[in-house]
Amino acid sequence: MTASLHADVLVIGAGPAGLHAAFYAAWRGLRVRLLEARSEPGGQLSALYPDKRVYDVPGLPATPAAQVVQALVRQLDGLDVTLHLHTSARDLRRAEHGWQVTADTPHGTQAFTAAAVVLAPGLGALRPRDARVPGEHADVRTDLPDPTTLTGRRVLVVGGVPQATRAALELVQAGAAVTLTHRRVGFRGSPAELAALEQGQAQGQLQVLAPATLNALTPGGAQLTVQGELTAVPADTVLILNGYLPDLTPLQAWPLNWQGEYIPDGPGGHTSLEGVFVAGDVAQSAQAFKLISVGLAQAAVAANHAAHHANPELRVRPGHSSEKRLS
Ligand SMILES: Cc1cc2nc3c(=O)[nH]c(=O)nc-3n(C[C@H](O)[C@H](O)[C@H](O)COP(=O)(O)OP(=O)(O)OC[C@H]3O[C@@H](n4cnc5c(N)ncnc54)[C@H](O)[C@@H]3O)c2cc1C
Repeated sequence: MTASLHADVLVIGAGPAGLHAAFYAAWRGLRVRLLEARSEPGGQLSALYPDKRVYDVPGLPATPAAQVVQALVRQLDGLDVTLHLHTSARDLRRAEHGWQVTADTPHGTQAFTAAAVVLAPGLGALRPRDARVPGEHADVRTDLPDPTTLTGRRVLVVGGVPQATRAALELVQAGAAVTLTHRRVGFRGSPAELAALEQGQAQGQLQVLAPATLNALTPGGAQLTVQGELTAVPADTVLILNGYLPDLTPLQAWPLNWQGEYIPDGPGGHTSLEGVFVAGDVAQSAQAFKLISVGLAQAAVAANHAAHHANPELRVRPGHSSEKRLS
């Protein structure tokens, strides 16, 4: 394991609650690290419904979920927040001046230390669903790849979720030879993405096979049924995007007096552990209101209490941002 990385406040989960908690703790002048299991921030909004419009986020009427996430991420500009993607928090233990969290990363285990921790894991780490297709292929993937790693390769993208549309377009941009397939005729994505898909198809930049059934993987690609015809599609990489399933199990081993999938939260977002705070869908007080606006409010409260805990010279109350400026 490499040397541990320190922060004043460590936030676990980069959904809306975690992003806003990171904003607020950093806005108070603290060093923040934000851990996210997935390849991108945004939690359920990015993973499950990036293309859908959200109507009840204050100040952002009828806004696609992906744009709500972009706004929350943009609000971190200029602040001392490091976002660690592909980083799944696994263990929590007391450290000399606060807490140590151990996380799994693609490069092995990484420890993080902090005076205060804000938990915002929502429904749990959003992990790609298994491929579950008969047959064998040497390079089957189930999550969004870095498109530049697949330049020059033949890639079969399988799925109708917004991530499939996005992956296909990004892979074409990166110079991969892409076939996109789905069992239904329609794909999901933002209007701009769907227009780009249609245009790319019309211009022969990618092949779209839909509706089609993926029967089996083969060593050289996959076998599909397209309009009743068995069709062999050659592919160096098969990318099967079936959506995401939440996994709370590592965090449920933490001694937080869990009530099912909820962590009891007291005033200020305090949990039963001193210096560990909670916000968002996982907080028991909001179980009937799993809403972005509720999570944002909880995050503001929890992050300011965490900031005070990390640096008692900071008052809990943040004052009005309109009376301050970034230096
Ligand atoms: C289809 C759908 C539509 C919705 N529409 C609306 C709507 O219109 N309006 C509204 O207000 N709400 C809506 N919601 C609910 C809203 O999305 C949630 O209330 C909100 O996402 C909760 O935010 P959160 O930050 O608490 O958790 P999440 O969004 O679940 O984010 C938690 C993040 O933490 C990460 N994580 C979890 N465990 C770990 C770990 N161990 N290590 C590292 N990272 C971890 C996860 O990968 C995830 O990215 C909708 C939900 C769904 C599913």
